[in-house]
Amino acid sequence: MVDILIKNAQIVTVDEGKILKNSALAIEGNKIVDIGDSEKLSSRYPKAKKIIDATDKVVFPGLINTHNHLFQTLFKGLGDDMVIADWLNKVAMPLSCNLTEELTYTGAMLGLMESIHSGITTTLDYMHAHPVANLSDAVIKAMNELNVRGILARGFLSGGEQFGVKKMLMETPEQVEKDFRYLVEKYQKPSEDKIKIWFAPSSLWGNTKEMLLKTWELAKEFDTGYTVHISETETPRRFTKEIHGYVDTELLEVLGIVGPQVLAVHCVAINDKDIGMFKKYDMKVSHNPVCNMYLASGVAPVPKMIEEGITVGLGLDGAASNNSQDMIETMKTTALLHKVSSLDPKIISAQKVLEMATIDAAKCLNMEDEIGSIKIGKKADLFIFNPSLAAKSTPMHNPISTLVYSSSERNVETVIIDGNIVLENGLINNVDEEKFYKIAQKIATDLAKKVYVK
Ligand SMILES: [Zn+2]
Repeated sequence: MVDILIKNAQIVTVDEGKILKNSALAIEGNKIVDIGDSEKLSSRYPKAKKIIDATDKVVFPGLINTHNHLFQTLFKGLGDDMVIADWLNKVAMPLSCNLTEELTYTGAMLGLMESIHSGITTTLDYMHAHPVANLSDAVIKAMNELNVRGILARGFLSGGEQFGVKKMLMETPEQVEKDFRYLVEKYQKPSEDKIKIWFAPSSLWGNTKEMLLKTWELAKEFDTGYTVHISETETPRRFTKEIHGYVDTELLEVLGIVGPQVLAVHCVAINDKDIGMFKKYDMKVSHNPVCNMYLASGVAPVPKMIEEGITVGLGLDGAASNNSQDMIETMKTTALLHKVSSLDPKIISAQKVLEMATIDAAKCLNMEDEIGSIKIGKKADLFIFNPSLAAKSTPMHNPISTLVYSSSERNVETVIIDGNIVLENGLINNVDEEKFYKIAQKIATDLAKKVYVK
């Protein structure tokens, strides 16, 4: 029995660039089971439990965020106009050192709610601050309550004191291994595979070789992903060289932390040799343009990496260095940044940017067989876009151009994740949003009063 039938839709599949007009899509359980002509599918599934008429609307695959720090949502707007060293000392460190389960959960709920509104169905959360136990649990609790697909990348720090890492944030390899095994056992259920657990060293300079090697060994044993901030600017690159004797990419190669399950984040201050290494080992790259512009880190050589065949997916990064959790805004920023920095309007298209937020991002997470495009057999992760809800998105001549350049979260009318309707008529199911936002405001204000260094 089909659970949901979406009919009379225009479907942007991101599957070989196909756009289907007057089409329908059937969902059974958590999977897409049929796609085709609207009339035919309507007569094939007259008893679908729920029928959504998407006349004049567009169905897109759910957007995928390859990099985030959800706890930072509570510090949104406190890091404006700072150089990165001040941002780390005044924003990131005080927040990280004072995290509790309640704060982490509230930040994660808020960040994920904003993500859902912008059409995001999968988020990788790089949870690298652990001043107390069970903070990963708090993030996963929010993911489960909101019914989103998530990767909890279990982050860690074990060094880098000379460059500002606080001792209270450091852990031993044994502690990280114990928590990782616990998280896999508790949350990574093969039957309901919405949550996956990865590793995420906060940085290479903030960790000992012993920690990096131990966690890499476990990542291989569990066949899971490994994501790490790489050369966000010249400064962390120099820190890694001072501590380990090699710059970021060289260190990864020396330690053998290479391969398709490695997702390198930022990659702004990199050279041709680094790009050659990513290509050689089929490593993936998470591009976070809004954060890179906000902190004035620079422009990652994304068109060059794409030309070399490297998979590049989009990420938002934490809201303390982005100030929102909006993938629609990030897609537009990506296109405009690379056009202006190369002085070439043809360097990147709206189609490519959409791929970077969907199928390429899915490849970054090694999940391209499950998500990232609308295809029979894939997970039912998608959103329905209504251009008629705003002047900004009217008229719509090309749905991909409209989504990337002329829309906002206001146009995201329905979001389905794993076959569940998570957002309907622009509102998140099962949550009193206004009430929650007021609570989050109070928690964030109290926290800022306590720990924010002006
Ligand atoms: Zn980050």
